[in-house]
Amino acid sequence: MTFDTTKATSYLSEYKSKDGLDIKTLIDSSNFGGLTYNDFLILPGLIDFPSTAVSLETKLTKKITLKSPFLSSPMDTVTEENMAIHMALLGGIGIIHHNCTAEEQAEMVKKVKKYENGFINDPVVVGPDYTVGEVKKMKSVLGFTSFPVTENGKVGGKLLGMITARDVQFHEDDSSKVEEIMTKDLITGKVGIDLTEGNLLLRKSKKGKLPIIDNEGNLVSLISLTDLQKNLSYPLASKSFDSKQLLCGAAIGTMEADKERLSKLVEAGLDVVVIDSSNGSSTFQINMLKWIKSTYPDLQVIAGNVVTREQAALLIESGADALRIGMGSGSICITQEVMACGRPQGTAVYAVTEFANKFGVPCIADGGIGNIGHISKALALGASCVMMGGLLAGTSETPGEYFYRDGQRLKTYRGMGSVDAMQQTKSNANASTSRYFSESDKVFVAQGVSGSVMDKGSITKFIPYLYNGLQHSLQDIGIKSLTELRTKVNGGDVRFEFRTASAQLEGGVHGLLSYEKKLHN
Ligand code: GDP
Ligand code: 5GP
Repeated sequence: MTFDTTKATSYLSEYKSKDGLDIKTLIDSSNFGGLTYNDFLILPGLIDFPSTAVSLETKLTKKITLKSPFLSSPMDTVTEENMAIHMALLGGIGIIHHNCTAEEQAEMVKKVKKYENGFINDPVVVGPDYTVGEVKKMKSVLGFTSFPVTENGKVGGKLLGMITARDVQFHEDDSSKVEEIMTKDLITGKVGIDLTEGNLLLRKSKKGKLPIIDNEGNLVSLISLTDLQKNLSYPLASKSFDSKQLLCGAAIGTMEADKERLSKLVEAGLDVVVIDSSNGSSTFQINMLKWIKSTYPDLQVIAGNVVTREQAALLIESGADALRIGMGSGSICITQEVMACGRPQGTAVYAVTEFANKFGVPCIADGGIGNIGHISKALALGASCVMMGGLLAGTSETPGEYFYRDGQRLKTYRGMGSVDAMQQTKSNANASTSRYFSESDKVFVAQGVSGSVMDKGSITKFIPYLYNGLQHSLQDIGIKSLTELRTKVNGGDVRFEFRTASAQLEGGVHGLLSYEKKLHN
């Protein structure tokens, strides 16, 4: 007998359950060990909407919602102010590292909070007695050619003129002083003007730069025509409701000195603090968490890291507004090898989120995110956001200079528990004590490595690639929002499948003599 083709979907009810596994069965039946993101796949669903209709809005903490679920790691080769500004502009948030003095860290937070799209708030400035030679050199190092000239050579000093490419280009005598050749006849904007007014003034002046000054004529910031022409707009930007400033996060440790550090960060306008420990279930962290919640009730606190329900329960009870999940799964980590502690990240994310989500505590899957598929899987397992170090390393917004090796353009990426990073912490008495060693340690026991990664271009392209890719991935699963993903995974509608070693081979590129893996245009 053959079945009636026009009624194919009605025959599905003959089966006890849907094809594939529900999430609990997937996790419970992996009794051969914990799961990593590569050990399973999500089965496709029905597509009846465009990928652009997929909303990636999500909770970062109990009180903060983001338009995209991306965080950059608090690592000294990943997040300083430039990364934090761009992560927030693109809908996520950056967590500024603490391998520096409290003052330096607070200064970075301030720069993020003060950032206004289109305004360069911290322009490179020269003094009147700089030489033409010096300006030519700056041009080749920095890549831009116009510099405001102020009395004291700093932002906030009285604006005297602008020195531009045209001023120095054909000036042969490199020893001439800037004040002799600078453009003095300036068109300026008054502090408080908005971008549209600035734009109008730039058009009228037919100049490339508009210096913004206060009532006393002191330089406050700069608007660049090239930026306006790029028509930069960031509809997803993460901003505070009231001040409309970009959201900013920063990490601290669990020492007494970190309380003083936090007071500086809060003064600078910090929105969310990450208590940065590799094992968050410690009395140091619990005490710090309780202290922060009673001292700064409005500040959102992300506690961690944790990989078990038991660890999570302690931090939830002590007031955590979100949890950070992961131990030893990061691309630069050697914790699992050296400490024998940790957990495969897929299982860790499921175990912790399944528990924490019951209490309304959002979770961040931290480490081991190597591609868009890993992000979808972390979110499907229950995370609200993902934190990335290695995936963002090598972009132009990360700290550090590019260098060349074997013809490739590279940047350094290192674990915060690498000997290199710990040495820097120890040599800088004011840096927050690393999460990987105690003051009393005589020998460092490294939990991370230092290496290099390829130039990935700007995150202004890379984050939109992740964002669009994630929308496509959810569309394939038949899901229109992260809220729907949560409900449908929990309800058993989103189905999973194990992925054997040979399935992983099959799912990767194979059988080619050579190929180039280009991820986006
Ligand atoms: P110009 O060579 O100074 O005319 O520079 P362009 O306007 O062609 O490009 C400068 C780019 O560098 C713009 O995207 C600026 O936003 C960026 N930029 C970042 N910091 C500074 C700064 O301190 N001064 C200038 N002039 N540009 C900066
Ligand atoms: P990635 O995104 O590169 O896979 O992992 C980044 C994460 O690794 C960070 O957010 C942090 O939680 C963790 N991490 C950073 N440095 C170290 C380290 O030296 N050792 C270990 N075990 N983890 C690290």
